[in-house]
Amino acid sequence: MGAAATGSEQPIDVPSDAVSRKLVRDPVCGMHLAEGLAIAERSSGGEPIFFCSEECRNKFVDEPKKFAANA
Ligand SMILES: [Zn+2]
Repeated sequence: MGAAATGSEQPIDVPSDAVSRKLVRDPVCGMHLAEGLAIAERSSGGEPIFFCSEECRNKFVDEPKKFAANA
């Protein structure tokens, strides 16, 4: 009784321009971010790897094997 339903549910935010806002995953911290905002690093296997920050990139460079399984 008395639970107020506002009826103002927000739709889940789905980017319409999914191509230009492609999400990549930072294997170090696990967050997703737009490719255009990510720091790209080429792995030993030649695959591009993306990071949210220099800090994460440096962690990966220090211990690539530790994070490679998450990429
Ligand atoms: Zn990160």
